[in-house]
Amino acid sequence: MCDEGNTKDSSIGKSSAGTDSEVVAFLQGRSVPCPRCGYDLCDIKSAKCPECAEPLVLKIGSPRARFGWLVLAMAPGCFSGVAAVFVLLPIYMNVWREGRTENGVWLLVGADLFGFVSAAMVAVMYKHRHRIMAWSARQQGAFAASVWGIHVAALGIVILSAWLMQ
Ligand SMILES: [Zn+2]
Repeated sequence: MCDEGNTKDSSIGKSSAGTDSEVVAFLQGRSVPCPRCGYDLCDIKSAKCPECAEPLVLKIGSPRARFGWLVLAMAPGCFSGVAAVFVLLPIYMNVWREGRTENGVWLLVGADLFGFVSAAMVAVMYKHRHRIMAWSARQQGAFAASVWGIHVAALGIVILSAWLMQ
């Protein structure tokens, strides 16, 4: 049925939204799986999956778009942000409950602040993701490497400081 070419009927183009009729027109005689449930959307009559009711849109894609470097650059911040939330507990126990204020505790507070700033930078990167994606692969690689470098250096400083305080 779907290979028989266009079987245009009166329902096509009747839709008020232009984008909806474009989706319907695109799927006439064309077998495309629903991006959500995999149902064959061939010859559907509205821009919605008949199986799972997912609204459908047409998009322009790029086979060359690469998220690799951006994901790599965002990874340390995501980890630091999660770690920073968990480190809040020992800080709370030490500073507020036991009133300890020695250097080791402040080192922990400093490391925790770094974690939260790092997590905030992930949000900034995500906001400017299109600008970063427009960079050359070399620029993106250098950016990801510098983000990792900063985190490795920060971890090194924390470990070294903790060792020197003993
Ligand atoms: Zn579906």
